[in-house]
Parts: sequence; C-alpha cells; structure tokens
Amino acid sequence: MRQSFLFTKTRKEAPKDEVAQNAKLLIRAGFIHKELAGVYSYLPLGLRVMEKIVEVIREEMNAIGGQEVTLTALQDKKVWETSGRWDDSVLDVWFKTKLKNDTELGLGTTHEEQLTALMKDYIASYRDLPRYVYQFQTKFRNETRAKSGIMRGREFLMKDLYSFSADQETHDAFYEKTKQAYSRIFARLGLGDRTYVTFASGGSFSKYSHEFQTLSESGEDIIYIDKKQNIAINKEVYNGDSLSTEEANNLASVGIKSVNLEGPFKAIEVGNIFSLGTRFSDAFELNFVAQDGSKKPVIMGSYGIGPGRLMGTLAEVLSDENGLVWPEVVAPFRLHLIALFDKEGKVKAYTDVLYEELTEQGVEVLYDDRDQRAGEKFADADLIGIPYRAIVSDKTLAEKVVEFKDRKTGEVTKVSETQLQKMLAKKTD
Ligand code: ATP
Ligand code: MG
Repeated sequence: MRQSFLFTKTRKEAPKDEVAQNAKLLIRAGFIHKELAGVYSYLPLGLRVMEKIVEVIREEMNAIGGQEVTLTALQDKKVWETSGRWDDSVLDVWFKTKLKNDTELGLGTTHEEQLTALMKDYIASYRDLPRYVYQFQTKFRNETRAKSGIMRGREFLMKDLYSFSADQETHDAFYEKTKQAYSRIFARLGLGDRTYVTFASGGSFSKYSHEFQTLSESGEDIIYIDKKQNIAINKEVYNGDSLSTEEANNLASVGIKSVNLEGPFKAIEVGNIFSLGTRFSDAFELNFVAQDGSKKPVIMGSYGIGPGRLMGTLAEVLSDENGLVWPEVVAPFRLHLIALFDKEGKVKAYTDVLYEELTEQGVEVLYDDRDQRAGEKFADADLIGIPYRAIVSDKTLAEKVVEFKDRKTGEVTKVSETQLQKMLAKKTD
C-alpha cells in the first residue's frame, strides 16, 4: 500500500482522556479511533493486525477440530432466563434493549446460553458427540472500569469456543488439547516467554479454571509464578503468604504436589478456559441417548480469547520509547519502504519499481511515497512499528544498495536489491 493513499495519519498527541499506553500508541499511529471510553473503531492498519491475530487463532482452533460459526449479538431474554442469568444482580455487565413492541433483548456478553439452546436441534445421540464450535464475535459488556484501552472494551471481539462431550474423559482430553492450542497461539504471537497457564477460581464444576496471564505492569490481575513448573496462581485463589490446607489439597488433587511461588506480579488475562460440567446442559435439557440406551446430559466447556486484548497486550509489552514494535506474524505490513526523494526524481522512479516488484513477489509493503522530510518519515515508521524498513535515497542509489533496518534491534545494514528480496522472502512466519 502507498502511504500517500492511506487515509489515516499519525498524530503527536493522544486524546487527553486516554490513559492506557496501548490505546495512546495505537491512536497516535492511526490503528484505532476512540469513540467513547472502552469503545474503539479499527482503522486500516489496526484491522490488518486484528485479522492476522484472528487468523493465528483460527488455524489453531481448526487444528483441534473446531467448527466456526457466527452467532447473533441480539439475544432472546428467554434463553437467559432459562439459565438464571438474565437478572442484573447475577450478570452485572448487561446491555439490554427493546423491540418496538417492548419485547426485551440482550446484547450478547457471552454465548453459552444461546449455543446450548441451538445445539439441542443437532445433538440427540452419542453419535452426535463430541462437537466443538467456535466463533469470532462482538461482545457487549457494560464494564465499570474501562481504563485499559482496547484491553477492556465495552464492545470487543472475542473468540469463544464451546465443547460438547458425552463423558468426562472426552471432555478432559479436549480441555487439555485446548490448553496446548492456547499455549501455541501465545507463543506464535511472540508472548510465549511471558505468558503463564494460571490456576484461577473455577466455578461449580471444577476446582480451577485456567487463565493465560501475560506479565505486564499494565495488567489488572495479580499472579504468583512457579518458574520451575512453568505455572502461576491467581491472587484470587492464593493470598501470597502461604497455601491454606484446603488450597494445598485442591492443588494436589490436580497434580500439583508442591509449589514454590514468586510474586506478586501484575499480569493481563489474555485467555480463560472453563469446565462447565452440566450447568448449562441441565438448565436447557441438552441430553443425548447413550450407547446403552440411557439418557445423559452433555458435558460442556467454554474457552475464550480476546483478540483485541491481545493486540493491546502486544502494544503494551513489545513497544519501546519510539512506538509500536509488531512481531512479524501480525504486523500490518512486513516491510516499510521509505523513499527520500531527490529533486531530479531518480529516487522516486527507482523506488516505485522496487515497490511494484516486491508487491508482486508477495511481500506486504507499506511504501512511504509521501512528500515529507526524512525525519518525519522515520519518526512515523518508528511509531507504526513495521518489523523491517528499507530506505532509498540518492546516497544509497549511488552506492547501489538500500539501507535495511530492523525495527526491534535497530540494526542497520546495507544490502543490494537482490539481497533485500532474498531476506524478505526468507523471513517467513
Ligand atoms: P476479565 O476478568 O478481564 O474481566 P473475563 O474473565 O470476564 O475477563 P471471559 O468472559 O473469560 O473474560 O472472556 C474471555 C476472554 O475475552 C478474556 O480472557 C479476555 O481475553 C477477553 N475479554 C474479556 N473481557 C474483555 C473486554 N472487556 N475487552 C476485551 N477483551 C476482553
Ligand atoms: Mg476471566
């Protein structure tokens, strides 16, 4: 893409009311636009990052047998009454609305209810199980604290996966598989070394749920880490002094015999997985006929990741004093091609052709063809955070090279055009 064509512009200042570092940077770089506290629009650069994050998650969900759907945001009050979660005192983040005839509707905060009701049309026998269904869908939550930028939206994208199994063994095996898929996702996004599988409060059907917590000073959660076992425990189940006998017994029952924890550390919850048991299948009478002819409730699980929160997390933990630093897999473009125009137009003529060639070779290039000073172009490139930069000027033309710069390390090398093409082709995800 030619940068002169891009409608967004970088800006020196973030909106005064914006307090989160991720949103400040993303707004200044033109990735998102703030509408209200906790409500952000995604602009071309931001959407490209979001779609790449979504694609990584989608690949891993498909690899474990997930089937993708899109459920609706407008939800029937009746399904929520069935599970007992329509009441504002039970679920305190509701946005509710009404049809013209006064029928109440909810704007979906999550989809256990709706999907359980839907699956009744398709699950009747053991032959119909197991089933794994997921979506990328906009959730609405009336969050009281919306001070973490896109990490805590009032309207935000969630990947939510739901599992439907005939027995506990099948459920447990899939739960484990999902946990591993989640770890792969965070590793692929460059967060593997600072993201911990974390024991958190589980609800009524298992001792623990598992959160995926990424260490960051901007996190809203507090965790304790056992580095040797590569696990963590959320403050909500461990107070930081010593384990209560009950907690030690609970941990022992899930295979953790002893813990050696450091902390407290601040962390961002990037994912959360739950065993739901028969909480929803009982309420909705989602039963199946087992092989022996008996009627049994389906065993369920739910598994969430926030792609927007992940994008915010990347902006928080990987950026530096000059701006954003995207990992290759989700960067809006792979190469920022910067032309420093000369009066005779030689640089422009050369760079136009190079841009076309690279694009034809499948390299995603943002070409800074704007008529601006070098300093402004470099500052913008630093802010936008594309992993690799190639600079063309009358000097580099005379030397028959281009200057190649790595955004993360700051390392600059002079390379020939052929070398540049090779380097970009080689660096695959
Ligand atoms: P939190 O404890 O941070 O409020 P939650 O436990 O309510 O989140 P879940 O319902 O488990 O969140 O949602 C699954 C995932 O969706 C979370 O792990 C997070 O990545 C993402 N998520 C949740 N709430 C938001 C939000 N308001 N904005 C952006 N992403 C969110
Ligand atoms: Mg959670």
